[in-house]
Amino acid sequence: MPKSLKIAVIPGDGIGPEITREAVRVLDVVQKKLGTFELDLQYQDTSVDRYRRTGVAMSDEAFADCKAADAIFLGAIGIPEVRLPDGTEVQPEIVLRLRFSLGLYSGIRPVKYYEGVQSRIMDPRIDYVVMRESTEGLYASRNGGNVVHDEIATDTMVISRMGTARIVRAAAKLARQRAAAKGRRGKVTCVDKANILRSYAFFRKVYDEVMDEFPDLDRDYAYVDAMMINMVLWPERYDVIVVENMFGDIISDLGPATVGGMGMAPSADAGDRWGMFQPSHGSAPTIAGQNIANPIATILSGAMMLNWLDERHPGLELKRAADLIDASVAEFVRKKEGLTTDIGGNGTTSGVGDGVIAVIEKAKLG
Ligand code: ATP
Repeated sequence: MPKSLKIAVIPGDGIGPEITREAVRVLDVVQKKLGTFELDLQYQDTSVDRYRRTGVAMSDEAFADCKAADAIFLGAIGIPEVRLPDGTEVQPEIVLRLRFSLGLYSGIRPVKYYEGVQSRIMDPRIDYVVMRESTEGLYASRNGGNVVHDEIATDTMVISRMGTARIVRAAAKLARQRAAAKGRRGKVTCVDKANILRSYAFFRKVYDEVMDEFPDLDRDYAYVDAMMINMVLWPERYDVIVVENMFGDIISDLGPATVGGMGMAPSADAGDRWGMFQPSHGSAPTIAGQNIANPIATILSGAMMLNWLDERHPGLELKRAADLIDASVAEFVRKKEGLTTDIGGNGTTSGVGDGVIAVIEKAKLG
């Protein structure tokens, strides 16, 4: 009997449901092909649309289901015109609630060029991962800043030893895994502004202390402004990048821009116990419901989920399943047939799902 794993699925808003549908079809075909695990999908009515309908974006029951699941799989959340009474977006009610309550401190954003993608930069050497600290940094001040007499506004940066050490350690472990898989030395680049702010100098100091535990890895440092140039002109230099929350938010949008855009950018939010997997992009409301959104970022997020589950449930061939999805996406894209418009084709969302599935079905399991 294949082992069953519970997955809480949140299709969400905008293009969320259509891209989730394709990713779930791919996961379904892969689990049937391998026969070593079964994904028990538990769909959650959790979205900004739910907030519009009921006044609650995510019920306590849905939150409990996510907490009880082996992993959370999310499409996209957000309807820009629907706001909370204070005028702010509803999306954090879901995404930040999950991120903070479940301790999802690592924002893992792979940036990889798949041959066949039409993009401003087309460099097959681009293959690195941004590890964004997701629970502190400048964004720790969200809702906590001060505006004094309508004259002065302040937000405080929070960098803790514990928060920095755990993200650097996660980045170093990832660099080690990548080094083993690729048969070369690994490297972790620390991105900050340590020349200007004490908080970033402290981030770098803790990075150095943690990296003492990993003598097999190379160290590398870059100021975030220089990084804007390096990621465009010399992206092949990077392996794993570790970075504070706000800088991570910014550079993890620049990265995808160098490999075909947000439709090619998967992501994971992971902690020590829980993991949530979703494309890096938002709900793209202007193209929703037209079957033209690129589902590849979501399909690759599904592969990241299987990879992450493999560490927790060894022996189920979950990594093999993840590798099969990644290789099948690569083969499908390489043929340049049926790609969506954002990466140079005129295909459809469901057509991409069909194309990737056709490659998986034909694959010979060695
Ligand atoms: P958020 O603030 O929720 O992250 P956003 O407002 O920054 O979202 P996105 O929804 O990510 O914006 O969309 C940004 C742009 O990228 C839009 O022009 C959108 O149409 C395009 N886009 C995003 N995702 C995809 C996709 N999967 N396929 C094709 N185009 C996409």
